[in-house]
Amino acid sequence: MIADLVRQCRETFDRGTTRPLEWRRLQLEALIRMLTENEKEFAEALKTDLGRGPEEAWLYDVGFSITEIEMMIKNLRKWTSPRKVPTPVVAMPGSSKRVPEPLGVVLVIAPWNYPVQLLLVPSAGAIAAGNAVILKPSEVSAATSALLGRLIPKYLDSSAIRVVEGGVPETTELLNQRFDHIFYTGNGTVGRVVMRAAAEHLTPVTLELGGKSPTIVDKSADLDVAARRITWAKFVNSGQTCVAPDYVLAHRSVADSLVDKISATVSEFYGSDPSASKDYSRVISARHFDRLVGMLNSGTAAVGGQHSRDDRFISPTVLVNVSPDSPVMQEEIFGPILPVIAVDSIDEAIRFVRSRPHPLALYVFAEDQSVSDAVVSSTTSGGVTVNGTILHMTGPHLPFGGVGESGMGAYHGQAGVDVFQHLKPVLKRSTKLDPPLAYPPYTKRKFSIIKKLV
Ligand code: NAD
Repeated sequence: MIADLVRQCRETFDRGTTRPLEWRRLQLEALIRMLTENEKEFAEALKTDLGRGPEEAWLYDVGFSITEIEMMIKNLRKWTSPRKVPTPVVAMPGSSKRVPEPLGVVLVIAPWNYPVQLLLVPSAGAIAAGNAVILKPSEVSAATSALLGRLIPKYLDSSAIRVVEGGVPETTELLNQRFDHIFYTGNGTVGRVVMRAAAEHLTPVTLELGGKSPTIVDKSADLDVAARRITWAKFVNSGQTCVAPDYVLAHRSVADSLVDKISATVSEFYGSDPSASKDYSRVISARHFDRLVGMLNSGTAAVGGQHSRDDRFISPTVLVNVSPDSPVMQEEIFGPILPVIAVDSIDEAIRFVRSRPHPLALYVFAEDQSVSDAVVSSTTSGGVTVNGTILHMTGPHLPFGGVGESGMGAYHGQAGVDVFQHLKPVLKRSTKLDPPLAYPPYTKRKFSIIKKLV
């Protein structure tokens, strides 16, 4: 059944259905229609899955996807047109260009934390590049998966764009098929499964993974702004954000004050009882809830610490007195728990970050530019925001992706289309000139001229 579906998509691709720009534009416009006409249904599904309020459902899933897709429509011709490049002397007279062509049939596998945008934005890039696409939403965000499974066939061309719902068995079956690119977002353990399966068919992969994204707060930082931006980024979607600050390394002289300010900001954002806030999300499942509650013993809760399994609620929590060897510092937290560790110097913070796998994101708060420059130049991460959080991933000009353990490849903006097209180098030579210089037999004089030319 899954094999048939992939075969049908390949037949459609081979017939050339997906290549015309008009077809691509129509599908992208239909995606936007699907999102706008069903905004309420998406908000309800995200409420069911993640307890998310309608504003953040729109901001971080529906609206985010619309913005990216609109940009693709606007730039469709430009991003998919041949790109002229210089021609080397040896090939002159002639002209050179890089000609974008679709790869074929693409598989997009998405996780549950932003289940709309993480499925639709890469898929839209694949469509804009002229591919057939199979979309695999996460079974963990079941309501959103069901909605996407119902709406996508209603709006898009089912001969080339198909949704496969399901969990490990379905994904395993999908991964047994041959694709021309696999775009996977999720954890590194499954990332390895995906890459091993892809290797069987020599299929290239993009892996958008996670990791423990550090936030360094220098003694020169504007603490009020830092506290607000950290609080927002850590507790939005109840901490289930791949680029959330995982932990804070704060200069010892400002650590207590930072914690106080985060505490005040949490009350400002979510009130004295965050469980009653309409803007505070829930943990996705009881399994993730149990995992997170297990981490609460890794330190002292200076903020929050309350939890209730019945509605998968964990209050925005800041842990202090955390040892770097404790459980909360071993794996990506991916929940509303923020360890704050005091360091004596920025060098110590840099050494700490460098001794661990490359994170997806890194944040540094410092008014002293030499400090932020030192952090940026001596650490490696997928991306960086200085004096802020998360927003480096929102613009079209900063491709978003990881490095090392946090992934490979990047997307958003033009990068999100390029990842799904082969920029085929095409050199066209003139036949008007064909000097014997380049051909044997070689003489001493000929060879010395060739050496100068190449
Ligand atoms: P998940 O459990 O929904 O899994 C992701 C996808 O993999 C799902 O579609 C699921 O069906 C599939 N899957 C799960 N097990 C599989 C298996 N054994 N074989 C084949 N497929 C399988 O999501 P998750 O992995 O818990 O997502 C959270 C992780 O994703 C975090 O590490 C987070 O940092 C990362 N993430 C990264 C980004 C990014 O853009 N870089 C974005 C969001 C999340």
